[in-house]
This record gives sequence, structure tokens and C-alpha cells, in this order.
Amino acid sequence: MSSLDERLGVLRGTAAPIPHNARTLAALTANPSCERRSLLDAAGIDKDALAAHLGLPRLLRKSQLALDYGLAFERKVTAQAGAPLVPLLRQALGLSVPEVSYEDVNSVGSDDDKSPLRLRRIHTRSRIRRAAHGRPDPRTLLDHPVLRLTVAGHQAYLEPDVIAFQREGVFYVVEIKSFPVIHGQLDPLKATAALTQAAAYVLALRELLAEDGLPPERVSDTVVLVNPRNFTRHPTATPFSAHKQIKNLSRHLDRLRRLPELLGKVPPDTTFDLAPGPDQKPTRPRGELVAALATVRPNYTPGCRHHCDLAFHCRTEARNQGKTAALGTAVRDDLAGIDTIATALALTDGHLHPSRSQKDLTQALRQAQRIHADLQTDTA
Ligand code: SF4
Repeated sequence: MSSLDERLGVLRGTAAPIPHNARTLAALTANPSCERRSLLDAAGIDKDALAAHLGLPRLLRKSQLALDYGLAFERKVTAQAGAPLVPLLRQALGLSVPEVSYEDVNSVGSDDDKSPLRLRRIHTRSRIRRAAHGRPDPRTLLDHPVLRLTVAGHQAYLEPDVIAFQREGVFYVVEIKSFPVIHGQLDPLKATAALTQAAAYVLALRELLAEDGLPPERVSDTVVLVNPRNFTRHPTATPFSAHKQIKNLSRHLDRLRRLPELLGKVPPDTTFDLAPGPDQKPTRPRGELVAALATVRPNYTPGCRHHCDLAFHCRTEARNQGKTAALGTAVRDDLAGIDTIATALALTDGHLHPSRSQKDLTQALRQAQRIHADLQTDTA
């Protein structure tokens, strides 16, 4: 075990590491400047368990009904050996093959519907390698493939919905999502999240092909999203460029590779261990856990509430410290360079002399204060 692994093990304590998946990787890119999240994720720490122990409200999760609907839609799209999917992909990607053949990797080497992850990964790799090297292979659609991506020096298993490839050997990732396309428009937030997940699959596929010395261009930046059309269950496929999401995720994975730098800022004996007792309930005093979290720099933004279990903790912390970020992303961005509300007020009141870089902002704040005072006089 490397000293890096040992150090991450100390941070994690007695709990088993939580493996990454495309969803957690996508969440990483939502706040790439947060050292706290980077470190917790790199160590595979269960943030939901930390949040529960701290008594924080839980993030909204998909209801069972929504999960069942998503599953039913995916089954409908891939039913009868991908029959409904094939014409959609022919249209979206210009697949020219007259016969597109489908294989469900889920049932490889097993009589039941789900064979072990490693077996599916081996089978996926062998299929993709054959196709990449132009060996005759009738399979042009792989359903439930398993890929691997190196995250902070560890292998994360990822399960894309489908990988489609053309005869020329350029691979495409296809994501089946149950949120609808309404009059040709997707919810932009949901579409970005889906493309960020797909970006993880694109990078994993490129990592696989790189083992054989094949260039990244063999996997397209174009991702196909398959969604229900309007208010029906009829699927429609739309190609999107995931270039930006792929770049963002790569940058963040590079950052995780620089973990020793992040760890160097944290006291060596820091741990997020919940110290479970014989009944598996955490025994760690909450105050100790809060103090441990305070050793790692957060970067709270109101958007954290959509993707991180610790959002309510970090929001309270930001408010208590009078951080401008607690007032919203717009205020934080407008006051870039002024981190706290106290500093902004002191500059406005003239109790603090502005540095050269703060002069313009201070003038704007004083102007805003004058307008506010005038308005109050008018309404008095
Ligand atoms: S909630 Fe906290 S730990 Fe999570 S991303 Fe935001 S600042 Fe970082």
C-alpha cells in the first residue's frame, strides 16, 4: 500500500471506501475548486453518512416511482435486441450499416440477467478492442458495457447505457435518460448533467483504447441522448457535443492526481472516521467531526445544494464566517476579490482602506450605498 493510500485510509477511518460512478464524477465537476469535496471523494468517504451524523437535512433524491419510470423507459428503448434504438441511432449518427447488431453484456457468461462486473468489463474490453482493430465482429451496439476509469490512482467501474460504433471504428456513447425532450428542447440543467456523466464514459473508453496505443479521436466527443419525446414514452435521439464536459472532467481528474498537494495542507492526524460502535452507530462526537471538516478548505456556492450531501453544513459555515458566497453566486461573483461581508461593509463605510485591486469595487459599493440611502429618504 502506498503512503498516499495509507493517508487516505486514515482520513476514511474504519469505513469501506465508496466507489466512484459516473454520477459522483459528474458531481465533482460541479464545484472543482472545493478542496474539501475533492479530498473526501478521493478518499472514498461516505458524505451521506457524515451528513446524517451531523443531523443535516438530506438532499432531494429521485423517488422510487421516478426510478421505476426511468428503468421502464430504458427497457422499452433496448427491447427486442435494441430494435427501437437502432433506427434512432442510424438517424442521429448517420450509421450506414444496413444491419446493426446488438449485444447485451449484462448476460455474458451467466444464466441470470446480471453477470459479475469484472466479467462484463473483460467482455466489453475484448469486444471494443476487436472493433477498434477492425477485426470482423458483427456487434455494433453494446448494451450494459462496463468500463474502467482511473480516479485518483484507483480504478472506478462505470456502466454506460450503450456504446455504439460505426464501421470506421469511431465509438459513440449513448445515454438513455427518462427526462423528456419537449418541442425539441431539453431541460438545460438535466442535459448538462447527463453529458457530464457521459464525459466520464468517453474518458474511460479513451483510457481503454490508449492501452493499445490508439488515439483519443477514436472516441467521439459527440454523445447521443435518448429521451422520451414530448409527453409520450416514444424515444427520440439527439446528438450533443460533450467537448466542454470532457475537458472539465479531465481537468478535475488531473487535480485529483495532485492529491499529495491537497493532503499537505491538512494536519496529518485528521480523520473523518465516524468510529462506529458495536451496533454500527457512529460514536464520534459531532464537534470533533466539524473540527476535522474545518481543516479542509471548502468553496461553498448555493449550487452545492444540488449535488453535495454536506451543502447545509458548508452553508452554515459560510454564513457564520460571513462569506459573500453565502449570499449567492451573483453576489460572490460581483464582489470577486472580497471574500467576506464584513470586508465589503468596512470598505463601503471607509473603515478599511481599499487595496489597488479593490478600488473600483469600493467605489461601486459606495455608489450603491448612496442610492440605497436616497431611496430610504424618499420613502420615509
Ligand atoms: S457542499 Fe461543501 S464540501 Fe460539498 S462541494 Fe460545496 S463546499 Fe464543497
